[in-house]
Amino acid sequence: MERYTGKSVLKGVAVGRVFCYQKQDYHIEKEQIADIDGELARFKEAVETAKEQLTALYDQALANVGEDHAMIFDIHRMMLDDDDYLEAIEQTVKEGTNAEYAVEMAQNQFTQLFASMDDEYMKARAVDIKDISQRVIRILLGIPEDGVPTDEPVILIADDLTPSETVKMDKNKILAFVTVRGSSNSHTAILARSMNLPALVNTEMEPSEEWNGKVGVVDGFHGDFILEPEQEILDEMIRRKNQWVADLEALEELKGKENVTGDGRRIDIFANIGKVNDADAVLEADAGGIGLFRSEFLYLGRDSFPTEEEQFTSYKAVLEKMGGRKVVIRTLDIGADKKVDYFHLEPEENPALGYRAIRICLDRPEIFITQLRAIYRASAFGKASIMFPMIVSVEEVRRIKEIVEQVKNELKVEGYPIGEVELGIMVETPAAALLSEQLAKEVDFFSIGTNDLTQYTLAVDRQNQKLESTCNTHHPAVLKLIEMTVQNGHKAGIWVGICGELAADTDLTKTFLDMGVDELSVSASSVLKVRKAVRDII
Ligand code: PEP
Ligand code: MG
Repeated sequence: MERYTGKSVLKGVAVGRVFCYQKQDYHIEKEQIADIDGELARFKEAVETAKEQLTALYDQALANVGEDHAMIFDIHRMMLDDDDYLEAIEQTVKEGTNAEYAVEMAQNQFTQLFASMDDEYMKARAVDIKDISQRVIRILLGIPEDGVPTDEPVILIADDLTPSETVKMDKNKILAFVTVRGSSNSHTAILARSMNLPALVNTEMEPSEEWNGKVGVVDGFHGDFILEPEQEILDEMIRRKNQWVADLEALEELKGKENVTGDGRRIDIFANIGKVNDADAVLEADAGGIGLFRSEFLYLGRDSFPTEEEQFTSYKAVLEKMGGRKVVIRTLDIGADKKVDYFHLEPEENPALGYRAIRICLDRPEIFITQLRAIYRASAFGKASIMFPMIVSVEEVRRIKEIVEQVKNELKVEGYPIGEVELGIMVETPAAALLSEQLAKEVDFFSIGTNDLTQYTLAVDRQNQKLESTCNTHHPAVLKLIEMTVQNGHKAGIWVGICGELAADTDLTKTFLDMGVDELSVSASSVLKVRKAVRDII
């Protein structure tokens, strides 16, 4: 039995088999093949497997997000029947080269060909060639798509997980996460929380592939990961896990009840999402709406910008699922820990203080306008609000409003119906909190991002695991900025919510109510817990 201690990001217990996640970076060497027929057969088999995967992905996407979104998998499947592409690969294999290398060569040749075309549609196909080639290469190398090779759900162990890796994972295949690195406010931790999975970060351990398949336990209440627990401990953990599940079930009786204190004060409890399907958990948790849709997750884990059409489909799907409940869509907050290759961002000394979020959007308005068009078009299908991240000045907000007006006018001329959309900002920099009196006159609401507000106020990098134990999450400076923001918002007659992780800290629920906070937006898994905390106040 081995015990490792980490920092818990979700209080829960998981028992199951362990799997050590391997990064999917690979390097392909050219090899000389003697059995050419065998290699050709291996390639053909990989293509068939790729087509089966794409059929499954098509069906899954069709059920979840509709035909427009699913179509891409159908196109990929057809591309795998393209004679020119297949012949190019087979020809290289016939010359005695390994299939992986042959696919990579064809990938390079065809992506270059498409990328050099004038037609925008054909140019964009370069990405698809890369996507299908990478899929075939992964199959040839035996690397599972999401890194998890079994259908039995596992306790996933990793050195670190990026948001792009986490977002691609299938929740049904994971019981818990345990990582060597990471901090509890990192986006990977936030994703684990949104999946309602026990998770530990900053865990002192040296994972080894020899752990694969062994039984493990994650105790999120005490921050322990135990490998091969003794029978007595295993029994105790199973008992605790059952207790955790029973406690969650007990919260179910709060569904349909109001978020009201014993002395009659009310507050909205909304939920945060990153993906379209997360809205199901929001409805399941009986949240009043979505207080933060981290739209940048639509940009992660892919090779090219999501088009206006793709984004429109996603926003529309969420708005329709939420059936008239408010959905606050945050415009993209790329940069810092959320890296996307196709943005071609240069490496920076201090990425959290760098070129990110609204700064990118104002500097590259074509990206921003595509997103705004998609949101406004979707606004006809539900109750959409838009908010802008990382604001530091009144001028930024005015510039944003000009762009928004331009987008709305264009859409009207093009004949698109659009809904009434509230515009708000995230208050997540000390500058925004300090300027909240002026900013409140410019917008319809404030949503306080305590993750970044804490990082920038206390000069504590939210990604730095070493600082976590010394960082006071209830620091009076942060609480003072929150209170000031609420007061200035109310003075201008606008509502003020909190959408950072602190919103779910039930030790502060009473403090937030006393300050007059109007809305708390938390992970779906915390909605009922916070409702209980509100109702327990007398
Ligand atoms: C925040 O900073 O509190 C916030 C909600 O945004 P994110 O965590 O995505 O940076
Ligand atoms: Mg933030």
